[in-house]
Amino acid sequence: MARRRREPGTGTGPSPEERLERMSALQLIDLISEHLAIQEKPPTRYVRHLRNRVEELEDIRDQAEGALSELNDAVEKLRAPALRLGTLLHRIGNERALVCVGGGEYVCNVDPLLPDAVLEGGMRVLLNEAYAVTDSFGLDKSGPVVRLTEVLPDGRIRVGQDAGITDTVVVRADALRKEALKPGMDLRLDANQRVAVEIVAPARRFDRSLSTVEPIPWSDIGGQDAAVQAIRDSIEMPILHANLFKRFEHPVPKGFLLYGPPGCGKTLLGKATAHNLRRQIQTETGEDRPEFFISVKGPEILNMWVGESERQVRELFSQCRDKAEEGYLVFLFIDEAESVLGTRHGGRVGNAIISTLVPMFCAEMDGMEALRNVVVILASNRADLIDPAILRPGRIDRKIRVRRPNREAGREIYGIYLNERLPLAEDRRKLIDAVTEAHFAETEENRFLEIAYRSGRREFLHRGDLASGAIIAAIVERAKELAIKRSVLSGAESGITREDLLTAFEREYRENELFPPTDITEDWLKLTDFDPQNVVRLTPYRLRHDAERRGSI
Ligand code: ADP
Repeated sequence: MARRRREPGTGTGPSPEERLERMSALQLIDLISEHLAIQEKPPTRYVRHLRNRVEELEDIRDQAEGALSELNDAVEKLRAPALRLGTLLHRIGNERALVCVGGGEYVCNVDPLLPDAVLEGGMRVLLNEAYAVTDSFGLDKSGPVVRLTEVLPDGRIRVGQDAGITDTVVVRADALRKEALKPGMDLRLDANQRVAVEIVAPARRFDRSLSTVEPIPWSDIGGQDAAVQAIRDSIEMPILHANLFKRFEHPVPKGFLLYGPPGCGKTLLGKATAHNLRRQIQTETGEDRPEFFISVKGPEILNMWVGESERQVRELFSQCRDKAEEGYLVFLFIDEAESVLGTRHGGRVGNAIISTLVPMFCAEMDGMEALRNVVVILASNRADLIDPAILRPGRIDRKIRVRRPNREAGREIYGIYLNERLPLAEDRRKLIDAVTEAHFAETEENRFLEIAYRSGRREFLHRGDLASGAIIAAIVERAKELAIKRSVLSGAESGITREDLLTAFEREYRENELFPPTDITEDWLKLTDFDPQNVVRLTPYRLRHDAERRGSI
């Protein structure tokens, strides 16, 4: 008699069907085998469950195979060599294109599925291993910027580069075919430098340019009679008597160099030249040419990129010429000129490249007709550093010294700022005299710098020795502030007093930022005319004096 098989799941707990559901394929096989071992037919539901389990296993295997093959594809892709990008120069019929890759040219098949719009001349295209064009990335986003020098009759263009690379002829990208290109424009080439792909806006022009200058009559500049006379001789004479200069074959300068300590009126003189020359020409010839004053600081031109400083200089002169052509009387004022046109620094920031700035600057100046177009005014605290090539006849051969004001000049400048229109508490002349005397007195209070000479001799510089127009102007402004404050507090207008001026004078010398905050001799030497060879030390007297009183020296 056949042994009865125990049904799975009898008793309490999961139902027999649930237990079968939870069994693995192997467990089900064992169960079926037990039946077969005793020659008993296993129930069909066992076989059905087994079949389900096998089906599930097959599904899992299929999924795993799918995932594995995806993974293999991904690994394969990562291992594949990179595809090349090239610049499409032009299409050859519908099916092919001339493509430039790394300097070489290839005639490539084009994927017929790519729309024509993405395959214009100048675009970056993707090449597969067989060098067929399979995709397009549009126009190159980066590339060198060049200056257009000529548009050839067939539409190609000749371009040059500022860094001295020879001119090249390139074709236009389709995007530029309809543009009216003109010499002087800046264009960007593709990375392969074969196609002009974009017009780029000219680099930032100097934003310090002023279209006109405020009217500055010569009388607004105090104590600089010699400088003013020298400027008038070198600029007004040749302009107003051009024929005489021609008859005598005398070279006319392109401008002049103003040199002297900071704050003493170099910029002021430059602007006054612009204003007065316009008026002078107007009176003498009846012609009114509005002035255009472009002011730039030397260090602004300096740039670490090779060729960039040169580009800036070219840009500056081109801006001047444009304005001159528009009928302006153009003044190019370059402050701190020694930083770009100097010999010692090589004209460039901290590297060994021999400067091309000075020769370039000279060439630009030689290209200008003297004083007809542009007057170049250089300003510097260190004229001795300016490259002599700049200072040749026919260029800038007038060096005009701008001195610190002495007592008389100081009085004149106080007079300019303490003008008749201001509310003054005292007779104007007496006020001017009082503050001038205080400023230039060689008293103990006014001791400002102590000089130790190499010879062992010691001397004091007084505040007056380091006076400047800028300081005097600032003192008067401070005094005005004191008077205004007092008027506000008292509710009645109170004119500038002697005390206001003296307090302002004290404070200005203590706080003026023209003076170096340190006691480093080199910093102070820059403010004086002393030959560094002769001076061992320059010490601010107050610092030393105060320290001595505190007993720390
Ligand atoms: P610099 O160019 O020599 O450093 P600035 O011409 O910029 O000096 O002078 C700064 C300011 O100082 C001027 O705007 C002006 O107000 C005043 N100043 C300097 N020198 C004189 C002067 N000789 N007469 C009148 N004001 C002066």
